[in-house]
Amino acid sequence: MKFDYDVIIIGSGPAGFSCAMQSTKFDKKVLIVEANDTKMGGSWISKGTVPSKALRSAAKLIQSFQSQFADDKGRKPYQQFRMEDIMKYKSPILESKNRNYVDDIIKNEVHTARGWGRIIGNNEVEVIDNMKQKKKYTAEYILISTGSRPSQPKNFKIDHKQVLDYSTILELTHIPRRLVIIGGGIITLEYATTFAALGTRVTILNESNEMLPFLDEEIKNHLASILKSKTIQVVNNMTVNKISYNDLRTCSEVLYHTKDEDRLQVVETDQILFVGSKVPNIDNLGLEDLNIKIVDEGTIITDVSYQTSVPNIYAAGDVIGQPALASASFLQGRLASVNMFGNRDDIVDGTRDMPYGIYSIPEISGIGFTEKQAVDLGLEVTVGRAYYKSMTRASLNHDTDGMLKLVFRNDNLKLVGVHIIGEQASEMVHIGQAVMAFDGDIKYFIERVLNYPTYAEAYKIAAFNGLNRLHKSGVKYKKILDKK
Ligand SMILES: Cc1cc2nc3c(=O)[nH]c(=O)nc-3n(C[C@H](O)[C@H](O)[C@H](O)COP(=O)(O)OP(=O)(O)OC[C@H]3O[C@@H](n4cnc5c(N)ncnc54)[C@H](O)[C@@H]3O)c2cc1C
Repeated sequence: MKFDYDVIIIGSGPAGFSCAMQSTKFDKKVLIVEANDTKMGGSWISKGTVPSKALRSAAKLIQSFQSQFADDKGRKPYQQFRMEDIMKYKSPILESKNRNYVDDIIKNEVHTARGWGRIIGNNEVEVIDNMKQKKKYTAEYILISTGSRPSQPKNFKIDHKQVLDYSTILELTHIPRRLVIIGGGIITLEYATTFAALGTRVTILNESNEMLPFLDEEIKNHLASILKSKTIQVVNNMTVNKISYNDLRTCSEVLYHTKDEDRLQVVETDQILFVGSKVPNIDNLGLEDLNIKIVDEGTIITDVSYQTSVPNIYAAGDVIGQPALASASFLQGRLASVNMFGNRDDIVDGTRDMPYGIYSIPEISGIGFTEKQAVDLGLEVTVGRAYYKSMTRASLNHDTDGMLKLVFRNDNLKLVGVHIIGEQASEMVHIGQAVMAFDGDIKYFIERVLNYPTYAEAYKIAAFNGLNRLHKSGVKYKKILDKK
């Protein structure tokens, strides 16, 4: 063999892992280079996806228990539970994910090199370990899957004591009574609702006009009423001027001004979480010398096959920008490998009709067109709604806050969008995804027996609701149903 490896993968997160696994299925020799000395799996296992969801699950359990078996002394969760115990809940989950990861790479005979990877030639990577020892490896292909890190705020510093970021929030030793989150995206909402479930009073300070602008309007309104019921305050359109500590009142103070009112306001808090945007990890990777093209703050440009401007060097995951999710990174890493070693003609572009999943309490998920997008595109559509309060499974689980909304075409009942807020939303969306992928229509939900009681019942209720609305608007749905 001309090279040491068929592919060298820099970064062991979801993109790198899936590229490695797929490449071994093509019988290729694979090396993963990982800068972290002790952990594999990147943000997916150590800082992001799994740990934040483990914390959420613990908070959700506590909230469900409290709502069904209220504390007879009226104590808040933070008075009954210790962060130490909640954090312990996630340890076995993370340990088992780490073990599975290592088992998979051993079983599939993937080699690993610990240290900082730097591309020093089209086919060569240098790895510098923590003892500053250098080793060089060659490969036919290289995948850059170095992920991203949180951006830094402009007007204040993250000291990891008073002001935390999304990795250090997972090291908290107590449940704060008050938490200010500076940010307005998915991670902000997830942590806001997780801490609210633990009894924390949460304030969200958001620089933009609104949170999560991509959501369907009705889902957004539903979310706003849920946040209100949890007394989570959201301040949009604001800029933080200063963060200070008030010794007298023993609390932090966040000084901000809103663009609409243009006056200074202060919010007192025990802890602050800053959730910035994601900055691709491309520093000191050797990209400049190779002339690999980047945009903005370092997002690597690739074509649809995840090839960079250097033909044998690929990139996948957060380092290539949006959607910057573990879900998408897994697919991108696998597709990069198929493009390197497989038959390009067989590739299905699974990033089309990609769902999003927000693990707030309750969850939010969706796929396809929102009602507004469909209308703006000139499609004649009707919507069908189901509310969690009318679903038996939701009542059984005391999860009655939520709704599912179907968007379908009037002429052929084809499903073009599904939008859900409520428990199990991130699971349920896949039913709609499958129907849409096979070009199905909403008759599927009416004609098939669905298990009862389930959250999936929402699809049946929403399909009937949609047909009724179509009927009322003048279309004889019975005729449509009978039409083969
Ligand atoms: C709080 C939080 C919650 C999230 N929740 C979700 C979720 O619910 N669902 C979802 O789909 N996504 C979620 N994400 C996003 C998800 O974690 C990322 O999109 C995903 O991990 C990106 O994968 P990646 O392979 O691109 O890189 P990463 O997972 O970031 O891994 C990159 C790896 O490369 C290593 N590295 C970097 N530079 C070098 C170098 N020069 N040499 C060697 N190694 C290097 C790093 O140490 C790291 O291990 C969440 C993220 C956060 C922060």
